[in-house]
Amino acid sequence: MAVTDHVDLNGFMEGVKKRNPHQPEFVQAVQEVAEDIFEFMQDKEEYHSQQILRRIAEPDRVVSFRVCWEDDAGNIRVQRGWRVQNNNAIGPYKGGIRFHPSVTESVLKFLAFEQTFKNALTGLPMGGGKGGSNFNPKGKSVREIMRFCQSFMTELYRHIGADIDVPAGDIGVGGREIGFMFGQYKRITNNFTGVLTGKGLEWGGSLIRTEATGYGAVYFLENMLATKGENLAGKTAVISGSGNVATHAAEKIVQLGGKVLTLSDSGGFIHDPDGITQDKIDWVKTHKTHRRGRIEEYVAEFPRASFHAGKTPWGVPCDMALPCATQNELLGEDAKTLVANGCRAVSEGANMPTDLDGVHIFKAAKILYAPGKASNAGGVAVSGLEMSQNSERRSWKEEELQQMLKDIMSGIHNSCIRYGDQGGGYIDYVKGANIAGFKKVADAMLAFGVV
Ligand code: NDP
Repeated sequence: MAVTDHVDLNGFMEGVKKRNPHQPEFVQAVQEVAEDIFEFMQDKEEYHSQQILRRIAEPDRVVSFRVCWEDDAGNIRVQRGWRVQNNNAIGPYKGGIRFHPSVTESVLKFLAFEQTFKNALTGLPMGGGKGGSNFNPKGKSVREIMRFCQSFMTELYRHIGADIDVPAGDIGVGGREIGFMFGQYKRITNNFTGVLTGKGLEWGGSLIRTEATGYGAVYFLENMLATKGENLAGKTAVISGSGNVATHAAEKIVQLGGKVLTLSDSGGFIHDPDGITQDKIDWVKTHKTHRRGRIEEYVAEFPRASFHAGKTPWGVPCDMALPCATQNELLGEDAKTLVANGCRAVSEGANMPTDLDGVHIFKAAKILYAPGKASNAGGVAVSGLEMSQNSERRSWKEEELQQMLKDIMSGIHNSCIRYGDQGGGYIDYVKGANIAGFKKVADAMLAFGVV
């Protein structure tokens, strides 16, 4: 009997839990995918016998390293850095770098695992990876952040390369940090190459990369609404976060005629019953990015809004919800509240923002629910286009890139329908995304044999 013959979903997950103790986020991400993949594999013996899911759920490698840096007061500080290279069956590893005190090996393993499926869904040749550090950029001077980024890259450079692994930004890592890391990479290697994406336009970056994740999540929402013959005009949206993804999602909703009611950060959320218009979004962008301010200061600027300390925005009645801050920020109870209040569509800008209970509630309610691996893939898609432009040593025009982003998001939507159409007008986007992403990676792995 083959070793896998007797393994079902529960047996598989027991093994995952045993091999990854104290890694709840990673186990959660694997479970969410495995629930759909086991059903899909039922009659596909080759995937079982070749242990494909087990192999995807075991990163190719996890590199962990010390990052020493000196703060402005002359103290020596020590952080931990990681790069998780999950799977490169269909292309070089690709995925962001996160700097946040909550970063652990478990968080990065879940992100790298998710990224593997997301990148496959884009249709571009990119494998899955993710990296980061428990470094907290909040309250640090620009020089401290520069010294940290340089120290981080002094180790990371050994493990990356334009055809090996191409990191990008994520929480706490924007254009400025990418600049510091690219500068250090170039200094160490003497090599000007497309080794990072999210670069500045003057030195190899791509137009619309900054906007792509938030815009893409809204294009995906548009695609979902279109299946019901609807669009965004006149609909209300509740958004969490106030960083890159949240502000650009808000911007695109406003452009398409929707009304954005909330934004948030780790301190709480603001509710603006008049709607967060483009000028208000511009204020938030400047306030959060350049002034490093807090969202609660919005109410001093726009007094008809209210601030709700320590709370998430899911209790505000809305037509559409876009969680765009971080993992597990929308729990089962929140999902119930959203559904009870008449929310009809959820498009995840963040990675795994909805916990497993919440996922099951959205699925049971049969609302339009897009998991991050499908709906937030626009960012990595344009990163993939940045890699192509770097290889060609040229820059494409904004209109070309906007169209490519739209086409890629529609393509992902079609893949979700292909594997997630449950009949009766209901599309299970979670199932569709999981199966479409898995199949592409799995078939490449089968071609390579047991490696
Ligand atoms: P930013 O650093 O620009 O913004 C993050 C936002 O989320 C901030 O408002 C931050 O608040 C809030 N936040 C972060 N951690 C927490 C927390 N533990 N609790 C509550 N709020 C929190 O990051 P991005 O916008 O780039 O990323 C947001 C999400 O989107 C992440 O899940 C990321 O992985 C995902 N994503 C990002 C992509 C990109 O292209 N940037 C691509 C695909 C996915 P505060 O200021 O208080 O920290």
